[in-house]
Amino acid sequence: MTGTRIVDVCIVGAGPVGGTLACRLGEAGIRTAIIDRAALPPMEHPDFDGRAYAIASGPRRVLTEAGLWDRLPFRPGPILDIRVTDGKLGRPASKLFLHFDSRDVATADDPDASGGAFGWMVEARSLRVAINARLHELADVSVFAPAAARVERHEAGALVHIAGGPTLSCRLVVAAEGRASPLRREAGIPVTRLPYGQSGIVFAIAHERPHHGSALEHFLPAGPFAQLPLAANEAADHISAIVWTERDAMAAHVMAMDEDRFIREAARRLGDHLGAIRLLGRRWCYPLSAMIAHRYYDTRLVLAGDAAHGVHPIAGQGLNLGFRDISVLGDLVIGALGRGEDPGATDLLRRYQAERRPDNMLMLAATDALDRLFSNDFPPLRLARDLGIAAVDRIPPLKRLFMQQAMGALMA
Ligand SMILES: Cc1cc2nc3c(=O)[nH]c(=O)nc-3n(C[C@H](O)[C@H](O)[C@H](O)COP(=O)(O)OP(=O)(O)OC[C@H]3O[C@@H](n4cnc5c(N)ncnc54)[C@H](O)[C@@H]3O)c2cc1C
Repeated sequence: MTGTRIVDVCIVGAGPVGGTLACRLGEAGIRTAIIDRAALPPMEHPDFDGRAYAIASGPRRVLTEAGLWDRLPFRPGPILDIRVTDGKLGRPASKLFLHFDSRDVATADDPDASGGAFGWMVEARSLRVAINARLHELADVSVFAPAAARVERHEAGALVHIAGGPTLSCRLVVAAEGRASPLRREAGIPVTRLPYGQSGIVFAIAHERPHHGSALEHFLPAGPFAQLPLAANEAADHISAIVWTERDAMAAHVMAMDEDRFIREAARRLGDHLGAIRLLGRRWCYPLSAMIAHRYYDTRLVLAGDAAHGVHPIAGQGLNLGFRDISVLGDLVIGALGRGEDPGATDLLRRYQAERRPDNMLMLAATDALDRLFSNDFPPLRLARDLGIAAVDRIPPLKRLFMQQAMGALMA
């Protein structure tokens, strides 16, 4: 169908950030179009592919407001405690470790009835299935996928030309196309990148013994090795997601290993607390870099999620930042339209940038510092951080403060 259609907001990119924003705006009755270059099958029920996100409480609320949390087809798994160890491969992990138990800081104020969990592990396919199904159900959301779009922006509004389809006239275009964002590039918005020379190897394992909601972050000289507890699914009863960071050359070598050798190497890093392990689904490898856009907006255009920023996955915060972006942006757009104001006005976009860019920069700096501090085997640094870890673990008020800070950061 061709011709011109009027909508309020056009979102380019239907990944977890763009897709969730479209659901949130659609739930609020805002005329929204969403375009993705890939197909978004509404009835997809894919096999478990081994990828998952750690989602904190604040972002969980974004998913609830978008009508997605209760529609996740695979149950999220709570993260109830986190153990942090500092080790060296080939030697047993340092005996010094930090143990954060969410039950130690659980409060009566628990609006999500979360039991005070640090966060939840959500399978990537679960989020994708819920988003795709909801996008097709919402009366105020139009989906164009797979489709290519050309965007023309002017002071008064924007036109989005869908190849072989209609032209959409809107007042705000959201670039949610991920790190390579063509719209960001077309707008001439510069980015600062920080390559790490590391890759993240991501996969899932089935294990013999239950994890009891426990996550492990084991700092090794090449980068962190994390085990994150997943809920049981059709593939196995005891499952964890693994994010294994290695230097790029070593990561390529690890990815080329046959499955037996790969699992033996993973087990060497994980330790034996979960019993025997086996691979579930595929292994994925992502080159790691940090990135921040110098501006989050241009005329009638705003950046959200990975189009605006990227952080080291050491703290599993990338998507959580994107969800915080769309929480702020969604409120601003819904508020403006409710008052009969322009959702693409420069003042509104400036407010969005002022709320989100400093927070994202802070997380970029914190995850970068953590990676530099721990992905290092320089003996004095190693001693200092082990003493620091030991001090935090042995001084209860200090540890409690750390946990409250951690939960505060996660729950913001
Ligand atoms: C190893 C690793 C582990 C991670 N673990 C976690 C974690 O535990 N927790 C967490 O919060 N985050 C995690 N992250 C980060 C998280 O994966 C990203 O932040 C998240 O995927 C960003 O979502 P997005 O929707 O912004 O972008 P994307 O997921 O990149 O989605 C972009 C979408 O835009 C579409 N698109 C692209 N170009 C175009 C175009 N020109 N036109 C139309 N559509 C287009 C794509 O098809 C896609 O659907 C991890 C990242 C890595 C690398």
